[in-house]
Amino acid sequence: MSSAAAVDVVPVLCGERWQTLDAARHTDVYNPSTGQVIARTPLATADETAQVVETAAAALPSWSDTPVVERARVMFRYRMLMEEHFEQLTALVTREHGKTLAEARAEVNRGVEMVEFAAGIPSLLMGQSLPNIAAGVDAEVVKHPVGVCVGITPYNFPNMVPLWMFPVAITCGNTFVLKPSEKVPLSAVRLGELLLEAGLPPGVFNIVHGDKECVDTLLAHPKVAAVSFVGSTPIAKYIYETGTANGKRVQSAGGAKNHLIVMPDADMDQTVRQLAASAYGCAGQRCMAGSLTVAVGGAADPVVEGLVDYAGSLRVGPSDGNEEVDMGPVIRDEHRKRVAEYLDIATGEGATVPLDGRRDFAGSGFLLGPSVVDQVKPGMRVATEEIFGPVLSVARVDTLDEALAMGAGCEFGNGAVIFTRSGYAAREFKQHFNAGMIGVNVGVPAPMAWLPFTGWNRSFFGDLHIQGTESIQFYTRQKVTLTRWPQEHDSHHDPVWKSGQ
Ligand code: NAD
Repeated sequence: MSSAAAVDVVPVLCGERWQTLDAARHTDVYNPSTGQVIARTPLATADETAQVVETAAAALPSWSDTPVVERARVMFRYRMLMEEHFEQLTALVTREHGKTLAEARAEVNRGVEMVEFAAGIPSLLMGQSLPNIAAGVDAEVVKHPVGVCVGITPYNFPNMVPLWMFPVAITCGNTFVLKPSEKVPLSAVRLGELLLEAGLPPGVFNIVHGDKECVDTLLAHPKVAAVSFVGSTPIAKYIYETGTANGKRVQSAGGAKNHLIVMPDADMDQTVRQLAASAYGCAGQRCMAGSLTVAVGGAADPVVEGLVDYAGSLRVGPSDGNEEVDMGPVIRDEHRKRVAEYLDIATGEGATVPLDGRRDFAGSGFLLGPSVVDQVKPGMRVATEEIFGPVLSVARVDTLDEALAMGAGCEFGNGAVIFTRSGYAAREFKQHFNAGMIGVNVGVPAPMAWLPFTGWNRSFFGDLHIQGTESIQFYTRQKVTLTRWPQEHDSHHDPVWKSGQ
């Protein structure tokens, strides 16, 4: 492992200046493929964090007054720069996160789509009007920015999740402070550099790094108007409760336990491939990853046999600079241990492990192979807890109703999928399953930029979701104006246009 002192400290962006904080505390950034420390993230103090908020607040008046078409043009230039630097951005995601290059490309593409969505902001920001709502009175509704917005993001999408937030927030006329995951700050820094290159005025977009001290400062600062959060459920709940108690508007997306129902009539070959892609893609570290397969009736044996066969053949290895792998490492060694522990927990609770991903891998990356856990029953920890690693549990039930009942008891509510050829089963599932994002023969039903990311239950705290037109509502406040222009009658102000001359 390289010595932490020999690597660079990640800069913060405060206005036009990239600064190296003289922080007393740091977090190491790893390359999960090699286990090497590649950078150090400074953990900002409350004072340092407040200074970044003040910088964003100072930039607000002139940016919110900038014509919306000019704000949109920054996004057009930004998109071109992202395309130009696409391979660099994807390599950075793989380097600091560990997902494969193909997965990193898919991630950056999703981020680019958010920029494309934000580039359409002039149409999206249009208001409403209703003339003569009362005698001689015209009504109009327009959208104003809310002020300084904050984004706090998780480690699992270093590029895409920040892009879920700031392109829309800033094109709506707000200024922004991003607090990326301290585990993966490098993609955020590159996104910030390209944004300045695209011509965004200094102070409109800022980056601060930190942990709880920094986040608590952002949640309490009187000049912060809105907070967008994505991360684990306990922290999402804390952010929502603290932010709203401090008078901020908050959208806060949390963790998940996504069910994948397989009906006996499903195409088994295709289904097994999709189950594996859903559960083992990004080494299981996706909030939309399939985590619990619920096999109905005769689907169970072919699903388990197919998964053991297919997942066992996936090429697991260091992903950095290497296209020849199907699954890369997980984020940290502690996380690998935590995920692997679930296999012991599962057998301790009476489940079986027909495919065990714990193997000796060459090198010092944080590698863990895919695992399949069978004979999982409702209430077991592997059936209810978010594992966030390459472990797919399988529960066997007799009917679709039993499968729906398992979903009804789930505390989360992000994604859920059914694999079937039956329109009736698909409709029952779509109508009744207890989650906000539904797939019918689609393994990872993650909505794209133009649609809201609609987690339910403890997968989301707040009202207005990320992405789509809900994000425009979140980052704006409405103003209604009622106007009356009485006709003037005194002789000095004869309405010339009425005189017929
Ligand atoms: P995390 O909750 O540990 O961290 C997320 C952010 O919160 C980071 O920026 C971190 O610095 C900050 N944070 C951590 N502890 C904090 C504390 N005590 N006080 C204040 N701030 C704190 O999440 P993670 O491990 O980085 O990301 C994985 C989680 O994110 C998973 O649960 C996953 O399901 C979830 N996620 C959800 C979605 C979604 O859309 N619902 C999308 C991606 C990831």
